[in-house]
Amino acid sequence: MGLRTVHDVAGKQLCTGCGVCAYLAPDEVRMADVLDHGRRPLPITPVGGGGDALACCPGAGLAHSTVDAGPGEIAELRATWGPVRALWEGYATDPELRYAGSSGGVATALAAFCLERRGMAGVLHIGARADVPYLNEARFSRTRAELMATTGSRYAPASPCERLDLVEAAPAPSVFIGKPCDVAAAGLAARVRPALAAKLGLTIGIFCAGTPSTRGTLEMLAAMGVPDPASVLSVHYRGQGWPGHARATAVGDAVGTERRLTYEQSWGEILQRHRQWRCYLCADHTGEFADIAVGDPWYRPTGDDPGRSLVLARTARGVATIAAAIGAGVLTLVPAAPGILPASQPNLVNARGAVWGRIVTLRATGQAAPRFRRMPMAGVWWRRLCVREKLRSTVGTVKRIRRRRLWRTVELLEYAPTPALTPADSASLIAMPDPRHAVGLHDQGS
Ligand SMILES: Cc1cc2nc3c(=O)[nH]c(=O)nc-3n(C[C@H](O)[C@H](O)[C@H](O)COP(=O)(O)OP(=O)(O)OC[C@H]3O[C@@H](n4cnc5c(N)ncnc54)[C@H](O)[C@@H]3O)c2cc1C
Ligand code: SF4
Ligand code: SF4
Repeated sequence: MGLRTVHDVAGKQLCTGCGVCAYLAPDEVRMADVLDHGRRPLPITPVGGGGDALACCPGAGLAHSTVDAGPGEIAELRATWGPVRALWEGYATDPELRYAGSSGGVATALAAFCLERRGMAGVLHIGARADVPYLNEARFSRTRAELMATTGSRYAPASPCERLDLVEAAPAPSVFIGKPCDVAAAGLAARVRPALAAKLGLTIGIFCAGTPSTRGTLEMLAAMGVPDPASVLSVHYRGQGWPGHARATAVGDAVGTERRLTYEQSWGEILQRHRQWRCYLCADHTGEFADIAVGDPWYRPTGDDPGRSLVLARTARGVATIAAAIGAGVLTLVPAAPGILPASQPNLVNARGAVWGRIVTLRATGQAAPRFRRMPMAGVWWRRLCVREKLRSTVGTVKRIRRRRLWRTVELLEYAPTPALTPADSASLIAMPDPRHAVGLHDQGS
């Protein structure tokens, strides 16, 4: 089916939530939280949301300029992982940052390096909303302290591209950090906005298996014993070790304590079930359009590790920045062999094959699907997936079409969070931990 505006993209559940349409057409489109879907474009005017907004929409599709490895790229990785020039494993040398970061704090350390030693003006990324801490907002950080306040993956809807105007207006180039679809959208927008292209100093993509909806976060909070979101004071999904715990505090909690779930409990049992539909159709989980991509070296046992990242340089600019950051002592990285990538993320290889099966099935049944060009997927489906997985990606998709009623256009209603409680409201509020997970109140120092 034809997608004529970004509202068609969102209505057919192909929106990733990147926010680039709101940056490119701010008089026509605004981003809003939609409880069961994610950040979505809502119309400001009855017409609009086509033109550049649609042309730069990663939800509608993505394309590389070629399928072949260029000079300096690792040929064996190109087809399945996009352009990769070099790989490392390691962490931010600053122990505080390494511990606070999602993996090894490399994304934040690189951003701080660009701010402090390379004359960049700021870092466009995301953080928790000050007024509603379980929702996210785009942030333009200008200091190390501001960066430190936003370390860690937030497994919840976020639209960093909606504030690309801040990068465009900054007095010097800036860093952009986002999920693979966010980085791809920023790159597409730079093609139609030369002023933005001149100011995108470095792009860092974080690996991403999928964004859960806000409903996922509310379910996670309920499992932590916080049924009333208005009482939430803070939410973190990872960090403080690798991968660390999901952590939250609520009005009425004793000072210095926090509620926790393990990564397996939060992501494995709750959040990943709430991933938006477009993430099941994602061909780029590893930031193929970024200068630098960072993820987890899951091939290693995690245990008590204070933090560790897998780092890919995808462009010459990425290679040069990482070399400079290692030279300056900001990153502690050791070179890694190409095999570390499939060993760390075997699920993402198979996901690429499954996406091909799903898209073919969607097209065959007349449903909307994203277009991926020069991003080979069919070979992965054919060679890597077993018969059961092949059937799941095709016959299983027919079932999903019925279950999710993918032929209809979904109604996108803005989520209005209830105002946060004040400490004065908390006297009567006693939030009990959920015994299912044996989650208790932990001393923050433990
Ligand atoms: C939704 C989601 C799914 C993920 N899935 C995978 C996966 O499948 N495999 C894997 O290896 N790793 C996954 N990650 C983790 C991600 O790879 C790590 O964040 C990455 O390794 C960077 O770690 P770091 O310590 O270098 O980052 P940090 O130094 O902790 O910095 C993290 C940066 O990411 C930004 N950020 C956090 N959440 C979001 C968000 N939702 N949208 C945009 N920007 C955000 C922050 O603003 C911050 O600048 C996922 C993260 C998210 C948010
Ligand atoms: S994917 Fe991005 S550009 Fe496309 S509709 Fe969604 S928010 Fe807009
Ligand atoms: S899985 Fe893909 S489409 Fe979904 S949020 Fe992550 S990068 Fe974007």
